[in-house]
Amino acid sequence: MSEVRGDSTGVAILGSTGSIGLQTLEVIDSLPERFRVLGIAAGHGAGACEAQLARYPEAHGWSPDGRPPGVDAARWCTDGLEGLATRDGVDLVVVATTGMAALPAVLAALNAGRRVALANKETLVTGGHLVAAALDRGTSDRLDRLRPIDSEHSAIWQCLVGERIEDVERLVLTASGGPFRDRDAAGTASVTADEALAHPTWRMGPKVTIDSATLVNKAFEAIEARWLYRLPYSRIEAVIHPQSVVHSLVEFADGSFKAQLGLPDMRLPIQYALTYPERLPSVARRSSPGEWGRLDFEPLTPGSFPAYDTVREAADAGGNRGAILNAADEVAVAAFLAGRIAFPAIADTIARAIDRWGAAVEPTIDEITALDAEVRTALGAELGVGVA
Ligand code: MG
Repeated sequence: MSEVRGDSTGVAILGSTGSIGLQTLEVIDSLPERFRVLGIAAGHGAGACEAQLARYPEAHGWSPDGRPPGVDAARWCTDGLEGLATRDGVDLVVVATTGMAALPAVLAALNAGRRVALANKETLVTGGHLVAAALDRGTSDRLDRLRPIDSEHSAIWQCLVGERIEDVERLVLTASGGPFRDRDAAGTASVTADEALAHPTWRMGPKVTIDSATLVNKAFEAIEARWLYRLPYSRIEAVIHPQSVVHSLVEFADGSFKAQLGLPDMRLPIQYALTYPERLPSVARRSSPGEWGRLDFEPLTPGSFPAYDTVREAADAGGNRGAILNAADEVAVAAFLAGRIAFPAIADTIARAIDRWGAAVEPTIDEITALDAEVRTALGAELGVGVA
């Protein structure tokens, strides 16, 4: 492991100006003796980047927009996300970027013996096999080195503490079901972007909110779970749970279930990933079970969320399909938000892309990048949307 000065852990945050990045800084600010911010990669403009560097004087910065005029060159990382992730003193890299931009940095960090706390799905969706290979080169607990922040995977991780993975019967991811959980597939034919953006329990960006309405988000989480916990897809399921209080469940060989519960608040899984194996007082909102009210569960019936079924099937087929799924979904969601295609066409677009580009061989990182560009360019041209 890299050096940890005193008792404090050096942290780099990739995606420091997005929602998860800002909440990570909030958690760190609440535990000032425990963490030192040594790196920030900001995606949301020069002003925000400059302000964060002023607030965390030990941090080096990077942004795809370049160095803001007010930032000293000595505090600027010229090696991008990978440079920040492997900077001297960085022990833990929080990955809260969007898309697959952080995949090379995640691999570099793991190969350099740094821990990664992953809030980003696309890294494992596109390059799960590469991340798994990097983890297999080490010997210590894989979940200590690659720590999930996604609330469902954090829940599963917490349920697995003290258990043996070979005693797990199946993982059950909870899904709110999004705004269309009471409609059948045909009933979504004319839904608008505004209706799809009205998520009942979590407030998130437009892409992930649409992914929650199609349940592509949940299918991507199955892919994440497959690489985090190394279980076959046949042991990874989802259940509709509209209240989002049970964050996921694990069923064991004896039929017993464990679950992790709480009001939705990402600061809790963020802090668990930062302080594991310890639990410390948290700024996340507290509640008591009396406030939770009813907890409902409904099976996820095949056919009710066609995009979910399509992504699960493609994931199970493996090969290069993760990269295709990621790119095709992103273009399809952009096309839906721009009013170019109807809601059900998101699933059709993904299915057609898998038919067109799917292959059995697991791609290298360069092949993933090339395939991503090819799918985006071709589908973007067909659907009339530019997706960089
Ligand atoms: Mg999630």
